[in-house]
Amino acid sequence: MTKAEIVTGIEAIPVSYREPTDHNRHRSVCLVRVSCAGGAVGWGEACTYFPEASRAAAHIVEAFAPLIIGSSAMDIERHWHSMKGHSWWYGTGAGIASMAISAIDIALWDLKGKILGARVLDLLGGPVKDQLPAIASLHGTKASVDAMADDIASFTETGLHGAKVGFGKAGDAYLGFDEERDLQFVEKVMTAMGPGKDLMVDLGVKNRWDVPMAIRRAQLFEERGVAWLEEPLGHDDPDGYAALRAASGIRIAYGEREWNARGVQKILDTGTVDVVGLDPGRVEGITGFKRAADLCALARRQANAHNFSTAIVAAASQALSFACPACALLELQPVYGPAQADLVDRPIWHTKGFVDLPQGPGLGVEIDEEMVHSARI
Ligand SMILES: [Mg+2]
Repeated sequence: MTKAEIVTGIEAIPVSYREPTDHNRHRSVCLVRVSCAGGAVGWGEACTYFPEASRAAAHIVEAFAPLIIGSSAMDIERHWHSMKGHSWWYGTGAGIASMAISAIDIALWDLKGKILGARVLDLLGGPVKDQLPAIASLHGTKASVDAMADDIASFTETGLHGAKVGFGKAGDAYLGFDEERDLQFVEKVMTAMGPGKDLMVDLGVKNRWDVPMAIRRAQLFEERGVAWLEEPLGHDDPDGYAALRAASGIRIAYGEREWNARGVQKILDTGTVDVVGLDPGRVEGITGFKRAADLCALARRQANAHNFSTAIVAAASQALSFACPACALLELQPVYGPAQADLVDRPIWHTKGFVDLPQGPGLGVEIDEEMVHSARI
C-alpha cells in the first residue's frame, strides 16, 4: 500500500435539487466524498429520494467511515464486505444501510480510477459492447395527451430509441387510472414517435392495479406494441406476476426496489421478470450492481440501470451498462436540470441516440463542490 492511496476522509452530504423531469419536484440524495492522502477525491451517491432518508443515510455513512479511513482505497471489495458486516443487525442486505453502502462504494470506485488513471469501465473489465442505445425516461405530467405525445416525439427526434413513461406521477396526466385514456396515450405516443421507437410503460405507486386489471392492460398494451410494462403489480407479488406472465406475452419489468443481488436472484427465480431494474445508488453500489447484473446475464434476462437521479448515478450507470452483458440500453432524463447538467463538468449524454463512452479516470466527471454545498439540506 502506498501512502497516497490511504483513505483520509469520508464526508456525507445530504442534498436536494429540483428535477424538471419529475414535474419540478424537489428530490433528495445523499452524496459522499471520499478523499485520500495523495489528494485524489471520489464521489458517490445514495439514491434516497426523500430528505429524511438522505439524512439517515448520512448518519450511516458517518458510522461506516472509521471502518475505511486509514486503509487503502484500492481494497473496494474488502470495504464493501466490512460495511455489510458492520450493518448486520440493522440492514444486512436491505434498507438505508444498502443505500449508504452504495454511496461509499461508488465513491471508492471513482477514487480508485482517479488514483490509477483508469476508467471505472476499464476497472470493471472494459466494455462488452460498442454501442449502447439510449431512451428517454420521463413522467407523464400534462393534462393533454396530445401535448405529451408531442413532447415525447420531440425527445425521440434527437435519435433516442424510445421513451419510458412513468404513470401515476405528480401533475395532471392521470395515467394508469382509466383504460380508455391509457390506450389513447399509448396509441398517440407511438404514432407521434413513428416506427422503430419503443414505448415502455412504468406504473407508479399510486396506480394500484389488481391482477385482472394488470392482465387486461397488459394484453391491450401488447396488442399495441408496448415494449415492456414496468411494476404493474408493484415490486413484490410473485403470484400476481405468475398469473400476469401466464396471460400475456408482454415483457415484464421490475426489480429496482431490490436492495442487493440476493433479492435480484429471488425475483429471477420466480421466472416472471424479463427486465430487472437496478439502481447503483441503492443496490449496494457498483459492486452490488455488477453482481446482480451478472446474475441476470446467467438467467438470460435483461438488466437495466434505474438512472433517474444525479449525474453521479448516471456516470456509474453509464460505466456499468457498457461493462455488463445483461444491460441493453440506458435511460436518460430528456430534460436535464442542475443535478444532471451543472453538478459535473461533463454531463452524461448521447450522440444520435447512442450513449457516449465514459472518458477520463474514475467515473469520468469532476464535481462542482460549490454547487454541492449550496444544495445541502
Ligand atoms: Mg420504474
